[in-house]
Amino acid sequence: MVHFVGAGPGDPDLITVKGRRLLEGAQTVIYAGSLVNPALLSLCPEGCRIYDSARMTLEEVVRVMEECHEAGRDVVRLHTGDPSLYGAIREQMDRLEELSIPYEVCPGVSSFSGAAAALGLEYTLPGISQSVVITRMEGRTPVPEREKIQSFAAHQSTMVLFLSTGLLEELAKALVEGGYPPDTPAAIVYKATWPDEKKVLCQVSELAEAARREGIRKTALIIVGRVLSGEAYQRSCLYDPAFTTEFRKGKGQKEDGR
Ligand code: SAH
Repeated sequence: MVHFVGAGPGDPDLITVKGRRLLEGAQTVIYAGSLVNPALLSLCPEGCRIYDSARMTLEEVVRVMEECHEAGRDVVRLHTGDPSLYGAIREQMDRLEELSIPYEVCPGVSSFSGAAAALGLEYTLPGISQSVVITRMEGRTPVPEREKIQSFAAHQSTMVLFLSTGLLEELAKALVEGGYPPDTPAAIVYKATWPDEKKVLCQVSELAEAARREGIRKTALIIVGRVLSGEAYQRSCLYDPAFTTEFRKGKGQKEDGR
């Protein structure tokens, strides 16, 4: 069995209980060495074989999985954040299916959750934005034409950009071309939840300059949207004294008269 496990964004305490148990019982671990906190590897029992996938191809990763399967050993494949986002797990799962090797996915705390926690931010504020667009700038990995930054920017919803820290001039230009006013608030969160985490607040038009000033070139998320502005939002319906739900009978008028 191969267990794809989300390692969380950095702080080793942010792995799930299930992920931790899997590591504690692991016979073989293949971890994404570029971003997974190596402190997590100290959970592995003695004798556990450890591979850093940053130095391996897909073929080499799958070969290790195949050898372990033949020897009756389980594998923990440790991915940063949550494996479902930019994790390249589909191609591994497809190979495993071809080889009839069973697998399971244990989710993790994504860095976009870690970044919101670092900023004390709610991505979905009533009256401001009820949607989060998770995307990236095109780099060596292409992005479909219909997913241009400009087309998402037209919504002016909350946006979280992965894998884009090296392209901030182009990003800011596309965001403004698409519809965000240049003074829309933005944040750069470098290594969210790691001891050397850095947070920078700026405006969309200042993103490249702010990253340069702070020396941030990679391992960061860019967050854009008015949820960062501190402006007035509507309070939730759910916790309004006048709002009736399945669990609580509302009393009186809702505060905002709705
Ligand atoms: N599956 C991961 C993302 C992998 S892609 C997740 O769910 O978080 C790698 C990109 O994620 C990095 O280039 C960076 O944009 C972002 N990233 C990963 N860890 C991060 C962290 N601790 N802080 C900020 N950004 C991070």
